[in-house]
Amino acid sequence: MPVEKHINFFELEKAAALPGCPLCRIIADRAQRYLNIMLFEHVGDRGFRALHRKAGGFCASHSRSLESYRDGLAVAILGRDILVDRLECFKKRKPWKPQGRCPLCEEQDDIEHEYLGFLVQVPDTCPDKDDAELKGIFLASDGLCAPHYERLQRGFKRVPSWLLEFQNRKYEELLRRTDVFIELSAYGRQDEFRKLDEKDQLVWKELAVNLRGGG
Ligand SMILES: [Zn+2]
Ligand SMILES: [Zn+2]
Repeated sequence: MPVEKHINFFELEKAAALPGCPLCRIIADRAQRYLNIMLFEHVGDRGFRALHRKAGGFCASHSRSLESYRDGLAVAILGRDILVDRLECFKKRKPWKPQGRCPLCEEQDDIEHEYLGFLVQVPDTCPDKDDAELKGIFLASDGLCAPHYERLQRGFKRVPSWLLEFQNRKYEELLRRTDVFIELSAYGRQDEFRKLDEKDQLVWKELAVNLRGGG
């Protein structure tokens, strides 16, 4: 098994055993690791500093994790670059227009593409031993969230039927459970509602997370 495949395989196995979209979970873990490396090791790296500055810093969602970061110096050094640029624009009363994209979003895109590519290469028939195992792991997971499934459909011309069928079945089931939830939420159906599993009583949360993605 090639090294890269080996790494992905175990990461996916761990993520697939937990609730929610496994890819969202992998991305959240990797983004955290990437941020640690960037802030700890590369804050003095001119290339990264320039990239970060050009992008106008991290996006709002990725910036949030900076606030709880333990190394204030790294956050201050990176933030200072942005503050200098913003201050200049404020003084001139001209709009601040960063050119690049959040370095973490870029990294996230690469991870997504890598993993989705990894899944779509598992054929419908006669997969080799590793592929069969990977397929088994993924089929036991909650499947991809809506943004990741969309990305899979748009990003790859050929998607194996096993994957499409699995995902579509997951969505049909989610729709059915949502319909039951809505129906039993009506006045006079409280007794039936109370008999639902806890998971089904909270399906609206699952639906909201699935539709927005991001775990
Ligand atoms: Zn996802
Ligand atoms: Zn971002």
